[in-house]
Amino acid sequence: MKRWNGWGDTAVHHPLPEKAGEFLVDLVGETTPPQDATLADAVATVPASRLPAHPLIQTDAETRLMHARGQSFPDWIALRSGQIGTFPDGVAFPQTEADVLTLLQLARSHDLKLIPYGGGTSVVGHINPEPGDRPVLTVNLQRLSRLTALDSTSQLATFGAGVAGPEMEAQLRAKGYTLGHFPQSFEYSTLGGWVATRSSGQQSRGYGRIEDLFAGGKLLAPAGDLILPPLPASAAGPDLRQLVLGSEGRLGIITEATVRISPLPERESFNAIFFPDFEAGKTAVRQMLQANLPLSMLRLSTGIETETTLKLAGHELLIGTLERLLSLRGVDENKSMLLIGFSGNRHIVNTARSEAVDMAKAHSGIHVGQQFGSQWQKGRFRTPYLRNVLWELGYGVDTLETAVTWNQVDATLNDIETSLKNAMAQFDEQLHVFTHLSHMYATGCSIYTTYLFRLAPDPELNLARWTAMKTAASQAIVRHGGTISHQHGVGRDHQPYLPAEKGSLGIHTLEAVARQFDPAGVMNPGVLVKG
Ligand SMILES: Cc1cc2nc3c(=O)[nH]c(=O)nc-3n(C[C@H](O)[C@H](O)[C@H](O)COP(=O)(O)OP(=O)(O)OC[C@H]3O[C@@H](n4cnc5c(N)ncnc54)[C@H](O)[C@@H]3O)c2cc1C
Repeated sequence: MKRWNGWGDTAVHHPLPEKAGEFLVDLVGETTPPQDATLADAVATVPASRLPAHPLIQTDAETRLMHARGQSFPDWIALRSGQIGTFPDGVAFPQTEADVLTLLQLARSHDLKLIPYGGGTSVVGHINPEPGDRPVLTVNLQRLSRLTALDSTSQLATFGAGVAGPEMEAQLRAKGYTLGHFPQSFEYSTLGGWVATRSSGQQSRGYGRIEDLFAGGKLLAPAGDLILPPLPASAAGPDLRQLVLGSEGRLGIITEATVRISPLPERESFNAIFFPDFEAGKTAVRQMLQANLPLSMLRLSTGIETETTLKLAGHELLIGTLERLLSLRGVDENKSMLLIGFSGNRHIVNTARSEAVDMAKAHSGIHVGQQFGSQWQKGRFRTPYLRNVLWELGYGVDTLETAVTWNQVDATLNDIETSLKNAMAQFDEQLHVFTHLSHMYATGCSIYTTYLFRLAPDPELNLARWTAMKTAASQAIVRHGGTISHQHGVGRDHQPYLPAEKGSLGIHTLEAVARQFDPAGVMNPGVLVKG
């Protein structure tokens, strides 16, 4: 069963390793575990629905609560404290396109707002209903999940847009294929959600981001249907797929998507390389990228992230031995860990690995084999479960991300980390902050920062602290000309910073497109752009 106020399945727990508790206390201080509201308390706050009775719509309080919030830090504060405030008036579970059309018609005739909902894993407030007079209907697309076509000659597969990661991969793997799209939220996020938020999977270096994988599909909008044929390429004017990618539910409901699939790789290998410091690692990965080595993943941690990862990994004996060996070879307290992935046939994997290891050596990088990489791969969808146990111990943790060109990486990274720390210092609180570079490109990379802090007993104070940190970090991103999101999207939380990136004409164009697809403002108003 899905947790109503945290991440993941209630049957899955990811305990902290034994010594991790002391490490965290050293970093940010002793904590007091917060008092969470019960499910019954939260359900009792759900008001009466304003929707007409309809066979496609459920209006019971628990279903509405389960669709009221996503996975952002403010969402967690609201759910854990039971102070949720706004709920959808009902949730529909369409099973066919005809059902979706019925819901669009109902929205028109009853002046409703519709929120398309995939897996509800948004971390920027995409699926939260806004208060107002118009009733809100959340449209959960998870029952539109069938594989409806697989063209193995063209390597294209068409799915209902509500298919979640594991169900999709299982259907493709049974036929010898993969999409190769593995966001950390893979367990719950859906194909339609990936397209609507321009998602990026952990192996995007090898398989591409969702915009490379999304070949075409269907969007049902209040103003009509947009059909995107899965052409290999086209010079027929601007590419309308790019309007659907990142549309965040503002233009209509994506009902099906055709994706570019790959045969399952003969081999996959995830390896770890340790550099004496972050600078050496950064120079090495940039050279690997600019030499166009066939890599499926690169993830380079700063010294602080490397230390934190090793401390929280458990396996003290093993890590102690590794650290002693590295130290003998000059890789010591500032060490920076690179996880590097290779996928393909045996020849490609072996050749790429040996070239990458040679390039790393030129920057004093030490290849330590596959053990760390394999552990990371095994646990990669389990890490978000740590948020549950951390919260219950009294720690908050959140992440943020951007992308910049290589020449801006150091300044942006440092400014984000310093801005976060300064914002928390105003509350006399310590912050533990660490960063890795991921999703790397020849011209730049994404910067992914994690920050950990003590929770206050008062939800309002937690929200005030988080808002101060998020604002300071977002302003730092804008100062350095970074994108306000490399992969999480805009939603509500990033909206104030979008004009800096798109400019006034750009924002007005997006608003005009939203009006064209949805003249009455039915679709997820308030998200992405205001007008
Ligand atoms: C622990 C965790 C790890 C994460 N890791 C990653 C990561 O590695 N990479 C990454 O890219 N993101 C990541 N995310 C963010 C999130 O998972 C992505 O934004 C994801 O693409 C959202 O998919 P979803 O199906 O859950 O969409 P939802 O959260 O349900 O919706 C997101 C937005 O898409 C719209 N939408 C959803 N489905 C449709 C549809 N069929 N038609 C029209 N609009 C639709 C919604 O209206 C909403 O605006 C992570 C989130 C969490 C909580």
